[in-house]
Amino acid sequence: MEYVSTRGSAPALDFAGATLAGLASDGGLYVPREWPRFSADEIAAMAGLPYAELAARIMQPFVGDSLTPQRLLELTTQAYGRFAHKAVTPLRQLDQQQWLLELFHGPTLAFKDVALQLLGLLFEEFLGRGGDPLTIVGATSGDTGSAAIDAVAGRARVDIFMLHPKGRVSDVQRRQMTTVLAPNVHNVAIEGTFDDAQAMVKRMFNDPAMTGRFAIGAVNSINWARLMAQVVYYFAAALQLGAPQRKVAFAVPTGNFGDVFAGYVAAQMGLPVERLIVATNVNDILHRALTSGDYSQGTVTPTAAPSMDIQVSSNFERLLFDLNGRDGAALAAQMAGFEKTRAMQLTNAQREGAAALFSSARVEPEEMAQAIRWAFDASGELLDPHTAIGLHAARGAGIDPAVPVVTLATAHPAKFRDAVERATGQRPSLPARIGDLFEREERMIELPGDYDAIAHYVAKHAVPRG
Ligand SMILES: *Cc1c(COP(=O)(O)O)cnc(C)c1O
Repeated sequence: MEYVSTRGSAPALDFAGATLAGLASDGGLYVPREWPRFSADEIAAMAGLPYAELAARIMQPFVGDSLTPQRLLELTTQAYGRFAHKAVTPLRQLDQQQWLLELFHGPTLAFKDVALQLLGLLFEEFLGRGGDPLTIVGATSGDTGSAAIDAVAGRARVDIFMLHPKGRVSDVQRRQMTTVLAPNVHNVAIEGTFDDAQAMVKRMFNDPAMTGRFAIGAVNSINWARLMAQVVYYFAAALQLGAPQRKVAFAVPTGNFGDVFAGYVAAQMGLPVERLIVATNVNDILHRALTSGDYSQGTVTPTAAPSMDIQVSSNFERLLFDLNGRDGAALAAQMAGFEKTRAMQLTNAQREGAAALFSSARVEPEEMAQAIRWAFDASGELLDPHTAIGLHAARGAGIDPAVPVVTLATAHPAKFRDAVERATGQRPSLPARIGDLFEREERMIELPGDYDAIAHYVAKHAVPRG
C-alpha cells in the first residue's frame, strides 16, 4: 500500500516510511492511496477471532509489503498481550440500546495504548532495519504522552520529547509520564495550552534546521499507524453485536478527530456503520464545523475532560481530503487559508459528505456529570468524564431503537478521579497495575511556550542523523 499526503506534493511512501515520517513534508497528513475493502462474507468470517488475530487481519492490507503476515501477527500478539483484559477491548451493556466499548485496559489506562503499544513495536522493527535514529517529538493533553512514553521507554535508537501544558493535565496523567526515568524519555512542561504545544510540534516538523539534523517522528494521531490500529476495535465491537448483518452506531468523545476518523475508515472498508456521533465538550470546533460548515478556531476552555480541550483537530484534514475528491492542491489552498485566518468554510461536498455518516453534539459540563450519574445508577459503572460526554451524545442522538449504540470508553475513571468523585460521590480506585505511582520519583523540565527554547532543548539532547 502506498501513502499520499493530503496536501498533494510530498512524495508517496510505503507503510514503513509513513510510520517513521509522521507528518508529510508538505505539512499534510499521510493517508492510504485507497481504502481496502472487505466483503460481507470476509467480515462475517472474522467473527470470534482473538483480538490480536483480528488486528493482523484488518491491518494487513494497510501494511502491505512492510511486514510479512506472520511478523505482523507476532507484533499484534505482543502489543495486545500487555492488556489487562483477555478481550483487550471488552463490550459492556448499559441498557437495551446503549453499550460501552472499554478501551482502557492497557498499561496507562486510556485508549491510546491500543495504538501506541503497537506503534512502539513498529518503530523498533523499522528502525532495526537501519537508517537514522528517530527523534519523536509530541504534544499531549495527557493521555498520548503517557501511552507513548510507556510504548517507547528504553527502546533502542529512539528518543522521545513529550510536551505537556503545565498544570493542565491530571496528577495521574503527569506522573504516568514523569516517573518513567529511562534515559531516552524527555518530559517538557510548557507554559500555555495543548494547542500551543501542538503548534510548536508542527512547526518543528516544518523547520529545516531541525529536520535536516534529526529524523523527527510523530506519536500524535497525525501518525497514520495509530489510526490504523484503532480501526480494529470498531470491527471487534460491531462483530460482537451482529455485523455485518446488523448495523451499529458509535459515539466517540473527540478531540483531534483521530479516534472517530478510524470509525470512518472502518465504514469505508465495508463495516456497516449506521452513524458516527462526534461528541465534543464546550471546545466545540468540530460540532460547529459539522452542523454549520464553520471551522473556526476559538480559544480553549479548560474542562474536566482535558483530552478534548482542543480547538484545532488535526485529523479533520484527512476527512476533508477524502470528501473533496482527494484533491491535494485544493486542500493545500484551503488549509493555507485556515492557517492564515484561523477560520475556514467547508465546501458543499465536504458538508454533504460528512452529514451522510457523522452527526455531532456539544456536551455541557452539567450534562457530562449527569451522564456519569445515569450510568452509575443504571448499571453501577463509573465513567470517566470523556466517556460520559460520549454517552450523553449517544443517548441524545435519536438513533433507531433497533440499532445498538456503542460509546467508546476512552479512559479509565481512575485517571480522572476528582471529576468522577464530584459527579457521583464515588472515588474510583487506581487499578493494581498502576502500582506505586504516587511514591515514584518524577523527572521533567519546565520551559516557556517559546519555539526557540524548545527547539534548542531538543537539539541539545537528541541523537542526530547519520
Ligand atoms: C485522546 C483522547 C480523546 C480524544 O481522542 P481523539 O483521537 O484526539 O479525538 C478522548 N478521550 C480520551 C480519554 C483521550 O485520551
